[in-house]
Amino acid sequence: MTKIAVGSDVEAYCTKCRMVLAHAVVAMQGTKPRRVRCNTCSGEHNYRATKPVAKAPSKKGEKAPKSTTKKTRQSWEEVMQEASAKPHKKYSMSGSFGEGDWIEHATFGLGCVQSFVAPNKITVRFKDSTRMLVCNQT
Ligand SMILES: [Zn+2]
Repeated sequence: MTKIAVGSDVEAYCTKCRMVLAHAVVAMQGTKPRRVRCNTCSGEHNYRATKPVAKAPSKKGEKAPKSTTKKTRQSWEEVMQEASAKPHKKYSMSGSFGEGDWIEHATFGLGCVQSFVAPNKITVRFKDSTRMLVCNQT
């Protein structure tokens, strides 16, 4: 870093121009400029490194990043509740089911078909476990 002294050019916030501009140091306080003169408007004022309030001068036209939309992950209970309101197939070994189908099993209850395993099996997620069931039986 270059040493700042009276007469040095420093970047400072001009209270008149209301922006960070080149200023000439008029008075020093220790190692820091105390008073500066704006090279643009020739106004003399106390040294202020940056614009008050805002931490750093933001680039023009740059807007604050949009808050990322939070994808709320549904709990299995919520999914079940939603699914139970929708039409679902009754499971039977002779039935044919596809991925994403909701089925009602006589023993295990409501489940969601996770995948179809050719030629005649499906994996179904039930509340407590994922089971492989037979389908397409003639
Ligand atoms: Zn100025």
